[in-house]
Amino acid sequence: MHQHFPLLIVGNWKMNPATVTQARKLFQAIVERMPLHLQRVLTVIAPPFPFLADLRSLNTKDTLSLAAQGVYFEALGAHTGEVSATMVKSVSAKYVIIGHSEQRAKGLSDEEVAKDIQAALAQGLTAIVCVGELMRDAGGNYFGVVEGQLRAAVAGLTAKDTARVVIAYEPVWAIGTGNTATAAEVHEMKLFIQKVLADVLGRERATAMRIVYGGSTNKKNAKELLEVGLVDGFLIGGASLRAAEFVTIVRIAETYAKGIAKTR
Ligand code: PEP
Repeated sequence: MHQHFPLLIVGNWKMNPATVTQARKLFQAIVERMPLHLQRVLTVIAPPFPFLADLRSLNTKDTLSLAAQGVYFEALGAHTGEVSATMVKSVSAKYVIIGHSEQRAKGLSDEEVAKDIQAALAQGLTAIVCVGELMRDAGGNYFGVVEGQLRAAVAGLTAKDTARVVIAYEPVWAIGTGNTATAAEVHEMKLFIQKVLADVLGRERATAMRIVYGGSTNKKNAKELLEVGLVDGFLIGGASLRAAEFVTIVRIAETYAKGIAKTR
């Protein structure tokens, strides 16, 4: 069963496109296609850092929020190559992706992820926290991997923080591979994540948190992932670079969410 909050659809552009001119073009193509009055879906684009401030000015219809693809927990100082939560907030981004597997693969630790989440929350940003196993094994050890990442990420959260933390379940084997997890697998993991969150934060706070899915989501599998996976939205890589497909997924989510609202 879904909660009453709007679904969240986030496009993670990763290190794309190549230039600010191309980024403007892609962003404009999304803005032009985006329905003006979405009632049950929030949409977010996470471009590379150098494009954030520029794209803000193109968002004239205010249909999209912006996200950074990460923050570093320190506030200022000798941290070459890093970007702080204050900097991200100062260019009007409202969200930040934290702990993406592509950053974990380069050494980002659970401990740093927890600190980055705290830094983001302290600036009023919403943290989209990625967890997910590298691969699945017959013994089910992958549940333990997700649990470990999750516990480390949410251990320090207070009651008021939980409204601004979104968990993105992103099985690494499904990212950019075309191998989407099945809707049943996603649903099973969503329930598991909720159980772990409930254990750490209490049931009420746990069920108030969004759990979204990421991993080769596209316009063909989105509906089933919502209907059967019962996820609260998506973190979308590849398909978010295709304006028409990204907006199609947004429309699928809106239609689905309006449908379940009617049955309540
Ligand atoms: C991602 O990188 O967060 C992602 C889900 O990518 P893709 O949709 O391309 O698998």
